[in-house]
Amino acid sequence: MFDSPEAQFAIDAVREASLLARRIQRDMVGSGLTKDDRSPVTVADFAVQALIARRLAENLPGAVLVGEEQADALRLEEGVATLDHITEFVRAAIPDATPEEVCGLIDRGSGEPPSTFWTLDPIDGTKGFLRREQYAIALALVRNGQVEFGVLGCPELEKGSIASGSKPPASAGGCIVVAARGHGTWFHSLKGSGEWQRRAVSTRRDATDARILRSVEKSHTNVDEIGQLAVKLGVTAPPVGIDSQAKYAVLAAGEGEVLLRLLSPSRPDYREKIWDQAAGSIAIEEAGGRITDLDGKALDFSHGRTLAKNRGILATNRHLHDAFLSALRTLDV
Ligand code: AMP
Ligand code: MG
Repeated sequence: MFDSPEAQFAIDAVREASLLARRIQRDMVGSGLTKDDRSPVTVADFAVQALIARRLAENLPGAVLVGEEQADALRLEEGVATLDHITEFVRAAIPDATPEEVCGLIDRGSGEPPSTFWTLDPIDGTKGFLRREQYAIALALVRNGQVEFGVLGCPELEKGSIASGSKPPASAGGCIVVAARGHGTWFHSLKGSGEWQRRAVSTRRDATDARILRSVEKSHTNVDEIGQLAVKLGVTAPPVGIDSQAKYAVLAAGEGEVLLRLLSPSRPDYREKIWDQAAGSIAIEEAGGRITDLDGKALDFSHGRTLAKNRGILATNRHLHDAFLSALRTLDV
């Protein structure tokens, strides 16, 4: 089904990177191995970016990567121990990797985007990764400001389902979500067994039945305004907090109707990073949903490393989009 060289590279690389992230989490999170509580996510972020940069160079030489991480801090004396730790994990996939090569691979993602590029969030939802809740490896191909292909690796998500709350069952095998422009959104188990399954957004049309998905971290959105919107539209269910673009996968699977990223009061000028939206946005669109900014404008990926011309995010199952846009306008959000 997904047999172009681009699709094969992206699916295989995200699968491999998801398993690497999971191994790092199992070895490091809460292990007491490290003094710094954030170091597991630092190691996983850099190791995943290095691995995907290497697979891109091997499979699609000349393709450009725009990733979240840069290796500057690893090249300093204080970074040596962390770099050694990263290199150790990267060697599980690339046996001959050296610390210098790892830095070089990470920095392949540090530039400004040209007209066609891949964008990567190596660990989206770092807080979820540390809490052993939801996180995602997000990779997408952007051409002339539009996302053409996206893959989300969600090691803690079962087929887009979160059953109850954001805690998956302990036996969760994880999934990958793949979307290609014009070809739909598909789920597959992370380990690659079973059939690919097509996913579609929910058909609920009544705002009172809407399930709202939002960030767990209050500093990434405006929880009070989400509450006001819910009251205004008569939404009865409390919003569900899910870290990372896993919530985009949940919406694409029809397990939620509305995804809101309102501007946090602490960062009113915040502009979304392209790697936080690219893969998730195409997953929603190809499942039949709609995604815009809070003013109803299309997301424009042609302005560097951020969505400089957009403000926040509203994604829905399409049926509820206009109702939420007008409520946002009335509340002056
Ligand atoms: P989430 O898991 O939905 O909370 O989103 C995680 C992403 O939020 C991270 O990858 C960050 O890049 C991004 N982020 C950081 N600060 C902010 C902010 N002030 N507003 C919105 N998103 C943010
Ligand atoms: Mg992110």
